[in-house]
Amino acid sequence: MASSRCFIFLIPIAIIIFIFVTCQNIHRNVRILSRNKTLRYEPTALNFEQMRYLARLSDPEDLRKTVQRISVKRVVDTPGHSAVRKFIIEYLKKLDWKVELDSFTEKVPILGSLTFHNIMARHNPTAKRYLMLGCHYDSKYFKEFDFEAATDSAVPCALMLNMAKVLKDQLHRSDISLMLVFFDGEEAFENWSDKDSLYGARHLAELWEKRGFLNSIDLFVLLDLIGAKDVVFKSNIQNTYILFQRFVQLEEELIKTGILRTQRPIFKFESSQDNEDDHLPFMRRHVPVIHLISSKYPEVWHLAEDVKQNVDYNTTEQVGFVLRMFVMEYLNSAASQSFGLTKAIH
Ligand SMILES: [Zn+2]
Repeated sequence: MASSRCFIFLIPIAIIIFIFVTCQNIHRNVRILSRNKTLRYEPTALNFEQMRYLARLSDPEDLRKTVQRISVKRVVDTPGHSAVRKFIIEYLKKLDWKVELDSFTEKVPILGSLTFHNIMARHNPTAKRYLMLGCHYDSKYFKEFDFEAATDSAVPCALMLNMAKVLKDQLHRSDISLMLVFFDGEEAFENWSDKDSLYGARHLAELWEKRGFLNSIDLFVLLDLIGAKDVVFKSNIQNTYILFQRFVQLEEELIKTGILRTQRPIFKFESSQDNEDDHLPFMRRHVPVIHLISSKYPEVWHLAEDVKQNVDYNTTEQVGFVLRMFVMEYLNSAASQSFGLTKAIH
């Protein structure tokens, strides 16, 4: 009897310890959101009118045209590759973005010595902090067939360019700005390994670490494998799950208000395993990352059928909508806040 009474007394203590530990974990997860541990981010939610206004800015015709221009064979250091690079640079320069290249030469399996070019574009080059969006613009080399790589990753790159265009008059030159990075050489030339993959991302992360620029990145949102009908995003990185949850909430809101005419959410607050991708060299250097990669790989993944004709524009535009809301909410909220202690997002 005495021991069971003792056990009953232990229950509330156990509950208190559980709550305390959980709170500590949440706090720790939020605190590591920024590399320099000084980011404060409490988004002021967009209201219905703002969402509706932003939704109307869509330019689906431009999105299709842009996918068509990028979705061509573009193996590193080939004519198709330079044509796509030029297209991306010109597109952004026309919109008055500051575009820079990170170029380097490296020996790779099968194809030998190749020159790579990462493309980095900033809306406000003098900003102190950046929300960074990334994708890779190279296509994987296959000896046996021509690989157009529409979902991998022409569509993600087109979504980023299209966003720069539709948000042209919404982006203001404040201390926090948007940065777009188009990585080169994500794909392996022979077999995926630490050395044969992520050529551009590894080079850029190292370069920026040396220059002390990584602290200026609030958050890096990486897009990959988008464009199939059954695209679905799940929470795959533990320490930014709170920010991922915001994507889920924004999409819910867009569907509930009828701004998005669909009943099928793409963003799910379920956990899933993460995959190796361009974010790794940055994540290892403690840059906070959201990895928007379809947790169900497209059926055409790494096949000759991954072509522009197979892109599903309903889901692609849906991803673009949610991303646009997230970007605007982030930039608006963060711009009006000063550096200080990190707080949780509610
Ligand atoms: Zn691939």
